[in-house]
Amino acid sequence: MKKIIIFIGPPGSGKGTQAKNIARKYNYAHISSGDLLRRYEAESGIPEEDRKAIAAMHKGDLVPDWLIYKLAFKEILSSLEKESGVVLDGAIRTLKQAEDFEEFFAQNNITHEVLAIEIFLTDEESFRRMTMRKICLSCGEIYPNKESKDIPEKCKKCSGELGVRADDKEEVIRHRIELQGNKANETIREFYKILGRLETIDGMKTIEEVVEEVDAIIRNS
Ligand code: AMP
Repeated sequence: MKKIIIFIGPPGSGKGTQAKNIARKYNYAHISSGDLLRRYEAESGIPEEDRKAIAAMHKGDLVPDWLIYKLAFKEILSSLEKESGVVLDGAIRTLKQAEDFEEFFAQNNITHEVLAIEIFLTDEESFRRMTMRKICLSCGEIYPNKESKDIPEKCKKCSGELGVRADDKEEVIRHRIELQGNKANETIREFYKILGRLETIDGMKTIEEVVEEVDAIIRNS
C-alpha cells in the first residue's frame, strides 16, 4: 500500500470525506491544507506576512505557494514518522504545486510512495453541491443538503453550531471553481498520468460507492 495518497478534485467533490475515511481506516494522518490554514490563522502571534497571505482564502483566491509548503511539508514529514501514512486533501491545486511537491518527495526519497486519486466532478455539479451545503463551524463536519428535513439543529459529532462557511457564498464559490475546478485539475491530472500514478473515480457515484472504489485502489496500490 502506498503511504502518500493525494486527493485531487474540485470543491464539493467529496475528497475531504474520502480522505478522512481512508485516514481513519488505515491509521494515516489526514492533512487538509484548508484546515491547516484555518488552524494557523486562529493562532495568536503569527507573522504579519503570513496573516496577510492567508487573507486570500476569504476571497476564494489561492493562498501563496510558500505558505502551503511551510505548513504542509512540515506536517507531512512529522506525520510520516508517527503514522502509517498520510492523506493529502486539497494540498495540491495547481501544476506548479504538483511539481514542487514532487521535488519535495524526491528530496525525501519518498516518490515511490505517492498515489494520486482524482475524484472527477463537472464544474456545474461542483457549484450545485457547494451552494447546498452547511458545515459545523467548530469541527468542519459537512451536511450536504441544507434544505433536508433531517438536518440537525447542532452538529451530530461535536454539538457545534451549523452555518455556511465564509467562502461558501455564491460569488466566492464561482471564483473558487474558476481557480480550483476542472481547468486547474486537468493540468494536475496530466502530470500524475504521465508519471503513471493517477487513478480517477467518478464523483457522481454515491459516497458509499466512491468509498469502496477508493479503498480498493489503495489496497491494491
Ligand atoms: P478547502 O478547505 O480545502 O476548501 O480550502 C479553503 C481555501 O484554502 C481554498 O479556497 C484556498 O483559498 C485555500 N487553500 C487550500 N489549499 C490550498 C492550496 N493547496 N493552494 C492554495 N490555496 C489553498
